[in-house]
Amino acid sequence: MNTAEFSSLPLKPVLLKNIESLGYTKLTPIQAESLPHILEGRDVIAQAKTGSGKTAAFGIGLLTKLELNNFRVQSMVVCPTRELADQVCNEIRRLARFTQNCKVLALCGGTPFAPQRSSLENGVHIIVGTPGRLQEHLNKGSLRLDDLKVLVLDEADRMLDMGFEDAIREVISFAPSHRQTLLFSATYADSIREMSKQFQFKPISVSIDTRHHDTDIEQYFYQVDRPKKINALGYLLSFYRPESTVIFCNTKKDCHDVMSTLDNIGFSVQALHGDLDQKERNQVLVRFANKSCSILVATDVAARGLDIKELQAVINYELPWDPEVFVHRIGRTGRAGKKGVALSLCAEKELDRVTEIEEYQGFSAKWDEVAPFKMSYEKRLEAPMVTIWIGGGRKNKVRPGDILGALTRDTGIAGNKVGKIDVFDTHAYVAIMRDSVEKALQCLKKGKIKGRNFNIHKSQW
Ligand code: AMP
Repeated sequence: MNTAEFSSLPLKPVLLKNIESLGYTKLTPIQAESLPHILEGRDVIAQAKTGSGKTAAFGIGLLTKLELNNFRVQSMVVCPTRELADQVCNEIRRLARFTQNCKVLALCGGTPFAPQRSSLENGVHIIVGTPGRLQEHLNKGSLRLDDLKVLVLDEADRMLDMGFEDAIREVISFAPSHRQTLLFSATYADSIREMSKQFQFKPISVSIDTRHHDTDIEQYFYQVDRPKKINALGYLLSFYRPESTVIFCNTKKDCHDVMSTLDNIGFSVQALHGDLDQKERNQVLVRFANKSCSILVATDVAARGLDIKELQAVINYELPWDPEVFVHRIGRTGRAGKKGVALSLCAEKELDRVTEIEEYQGFSAKWDEVAPFKMSYEKRLEAPMVTIWIGGGRKNKVRPGDILGALTRDTGIAGNKVGKIDVFDTHAYVAIMRDSVEKALQCLKKGKIKGRNFNIHKSQW
């Protein structure tokens, strides 16, 4: 099936208009393969991972089915982690921007139970949650699934890896058996087929080629021995000057060493590894996604579920052992029609891994050379944005539009100087182009947001 345009699908006009305003001009391959079946009400098992547009595929499906005047839970998305649940929730809210009164709620652990219970009492259409917290709400009776029409199991393979099988089974036992079940998984192990057999009815199986094509991602390999790798990194960063780069390392120690060397000479860099707590991890991700930090050094495990739009470059500081991991790493750039570069540093002893990667991808590696490079402060790369911290958030009824308004109203700054706005419960962040930060600070301090003066300061990071 090749349905490239959203307008060729039977979608509500308001949804179609919003999809257009989000800049989604064409369906991604996974959307083209799965959406027609999802809209027909069929169960679908799809092999798709973060970055493929899978959230919009099921999100559009469940928004289409929604009866807005029934304030009972009609769709439920089960996710392995709180972070993924938040991302899914945000994407569904974005898709539902013009759909009036559509209530989407995240139900995850690590946040107080009582406010979730009262939100549920007030009526919710769509919930996105992690298995443990969903189980708790179901067992305590604060969540009822009698009206559930669509159930989505997202990153099902990861949920099984994390030992959620029993919890999922219990959660599903509360759902009506007459429902649509959509299962998304990055891999198709036997355990996933088994899960599909248990919970789905005559599912349509959809899978897209996970290999990348030359046109999306420009790939280069550089033969560099380990002691020279850090200088090679410096060279590649100053040559390509990407606004956003993820550098992959195989170990936490390499991650830390690369981060501190780049940081010492003034690159705007952070590390993402398993030792960060959720709050620290969120800060790192906010800063990277809003472009006030341009380099993220990460291990594969820590980078799972990372959803960064417009990642311009991926650099492999060391090649992974498994070619599938390589393809997964570089697939974080060149997404949704945008171009990206994937640069791989490879010591002599890693050459065998290149051969495997070539076989897996079905084409030969292109080799290039790095020039000598002196790591010095003058060569550092400055991030294009700076973050401002605002001491008010969702609980103070602050919305992104209020912050944008305070910045741009009267003689404020131009709208195109304002970047990503992230609103949390008690605080918010707004990214501003470096040349307009002082003016933005003045606007926010002088003017009011939602009629109030909140604490405002340039973020330390
Ligand atoms: P996901 O695989 O759901 O994590 O989505 C990856 C990114 O692609 C998200 O940031 C979406 O907003 C974006 N996206 C989803 N569908 C489309 C589309 N048809 N065209 C362009 N971007 C899209």
